[in-house]
Amino acid sequence: MNSLPTFWILVYAWIGIAVLSFFTLLRVRAPYGRYSTRRWGPALPHRWGWIMMELASPAVFLFFFLTGAVPKTAPLWVFAGLWTGHYLNRAVAYPLRQTPGNRMPILIMVFGLVFNGVNGFLNGHYLGGLASPYPLGWLADPRFLLGVFMFAIGAIVNWRADAVLLALRRSGDRDAGYRIPEGGLYRWVSCPNYLGEIVEWMGFAVLTWSLPAASFAIWTAANLIPRALSHHRWYREQFPDYPSERQALIPGLL
Ligand code: NDP
Repeated sequence: MNSLPTFWILVYAWIGIAVLSFFTLLRVRAPYGRYSTRRWGPALPHRWGWIMMELASPAVFLFFFLTGAVPKTAPLWVFAGLWTGHYLNRAVAYPLRQTPGNRMPILIMVFGLVFNGVNGFLNGHYLGGLASPYPLGWLADPRFLLGVFMFAIGAIVNWRADAVLLALRRSGDRDAGYRIPEGGLYRWVSCPNYLGEIVEWMGFAVLTWSLPAASFAIWTAANLIPRALSHHRWYREQFPDYPSERQALIPGLL
């Protein structure tokens, strides 16, 4: 069988699994961070879990991107740079900035590794091996410019919101637990880091104008919208003085 139809079947199946996961995650909270429990079996230090599972994405992406036959034009190098740059932060800088202490079930790390591997494969294989070469003029295409703008805004929002949480954790007594994050977009929503991440990957889908990138944006939303709703409920339960005007994810909407 020609590999192209098989590839697209995989992409559509992956989107279907994302939709199922969305509804599952509305009922079952992913057991890492504040929701980690011993029921999910043996665990490893949270930081090492992040490094291992997140490194899978740029490694697999770059392997298929670089070995694929599509001529590597400037726009393709920009796509690869944005993907790799994001994951240098997520897989290396971000875990090293975390305060050690929490643990992650090994099962969750394995899920994360497979998840990142599949996303890295679909996007690296498509861009490096299957796509029509993007001409130089793509860098001036409105889709590219809008997507880069969304990607950059999303990355800044995500990075700054993550930095607030990491600073809260560093400055607090680990055993004292969690505190109410303040400042920036936290004035309006409980999880601006997730909002930034979703906008970032929507931007990547727009700037590459590709279905594999859209599948990752859909997955990101499927993971993070339910988690934002859970965090928001959790904050309200834990802190009687939690700001009542604050919403979960999207100011004024959700
Ligand atoms: P969380 O907001 O659950 O936690 C982020 C870090 O901040 C953890 O170290 C956490 O500690 C700490 N923290 C969170 N809230 C508080 C608080 N109120 N007081 C003190 N410390 C706090 O984020 P996630 O771990 O779910 O995600 C981390 C990053 O990964 C995010 O940027 C997210 O966008 C991204 N991500 C992307 C996904 C995708 O599908 N593309 C999927 C999942 C995450 P502790 O670990 O002890 O809870």
